[in-house]
Amino acid sequence: MAKEKAEKTEKAAEAPKKGESKHPNYVKCVVSCACGNTFEVYSTVPKSSVGICSKCHPFFTGKQKLVDTEGRVDAFNRKYAKYNQK
Ligand SMILES: [Zn+2]
Repeated sequence: MAKEKAEKTEKAAEAPKKGESKHPNYVKCVVSCACGNTFEVYSTVPKSSVGICSKCHPFFTGKQKLVDTEGRVDAFNRKYAKYNQK
């Protein structure tokens, strides 16, 4: 992401000569998501990356994603298991 930004600023630094178009280059841009999905859009940069897309966002998948990397839910259930026993 930072690399693309650097490219952008580099391009912006080039002052257009008289008679040249000031419009930035509008090219096909391949966007890659953290989930592995890729899609094409048109942008001024040829490559970009995103953290979440329509293929993996819970709003579009309809599935609630439970991020439980440390097993917090299991730890909670273990801690309060004695109160559930009758
Ligand atoms: Zn995605």
